[in-house]
Amino acid sequence: MFGMIEGTGFEVIDPSFGDCLIGHARVERLWTGARWSEGPVWFAAGRYLLWSDIPNNRLLRFDETDGSVSTFRQPSNNANGNTVDRQGRLVTCEHLSRRVTRTEHDGSLTVIADSFEGKRLNSPNDVVVHSDGSIWFTDPSYGILMDYEGDRAESEIGACHVYRVDPSGTIARMIEDYVKPNGLAFSPDETELYIADTGISHDPDGPRHIRRHRLDADGRLSGGEVFATCTEGLFDGFRFDRAGRIWSSAADGVHCLDASGALIGKILIPELVANVCFGGPKLNRLFICGTTSLYSVFLNVNGVSPIGGR
Ligand code: MG
Repeated sequence: MFGMIEGTGFEVIDPSFGDCLIGHARVERLWTGARWSEGPVWFAAGRYLLWSDIPNNRLLRFDETDGSVSTFRQPSNNANGNTVDRQGRLVTCEHLSRRVTRTEHDGSLTVIADSFEGKRLNSPNDVVVHSDGSIWFTDPSYGILMDYEGDRAESEIGACHVYRVDPSGTIARMIEDYVKPNGLAFSPDETELYIADTGISHDPDGPRHIRRHRLDADGRLSGGEVFATCTEGLFDGFRFDRAGRIWSSAADGVHCLDASGALIGKILIPELVANVCFGGPKLNRLFICGTTSLYSVFLNVNGVSPIGGR
């Protein structure tokens, strides 16, 4: 497990990326056996990571205390993106049931959103929770395009949008000019919202970039310019570190973007990467969902905690 994994490594494009690395730290393959790994989320209190194996209809759990992996939930309704809210509760996007749910402290599920203006959502993909309690999620059509990651169906809404559910449960459509909105994350100070558009997955001329939106104190969005375009495959899910760098999935591994959007370096992974998240007690361990496997690497950076603090 601690030997060099073939096909892994680091590519330093800008010298500043070298400062993010620990000289002797290597990429570890923690587990393999999934069909499509996505949606990693770190639970600090329990020192475990949950992630989705979408086609296998399960949520998996990596226990950092002993390195074991077990099934957390099966069936998972083809769960995709996950996050944790400020109360430490799991929030999950489900393809099959075309909804976003929250797992309460007693283990019961609460439906956060399953429709907009009377029409079923497509297949919620990724989700973040703002410190004001609002839940933001993307709703592309991947889960209804095939029977592989959900049930094939026509889109009732007819387009792919970004939604916000406020703490009272009211859902609002916030952004409607994406082809396939996918991963999303707030900047560390929550004044900006970054969203990936993976439209290139079904259109060779489609977008494969991350756009940046400004979010004012009243919750209004503005801007929306292209922040960075992926140079290898597409950006799916991504996370911020505390210095404002983005660590994003890409076809050849993890791409690190500085605050200007420049690609400063890569963590090379021998499988296509769909998503990442920071974990470990110091949030300095990047967990990487790479198709069939879960990888991790210790970095000389610290992630932004989704539950506040630090
Ligand atoms: Mg995604």
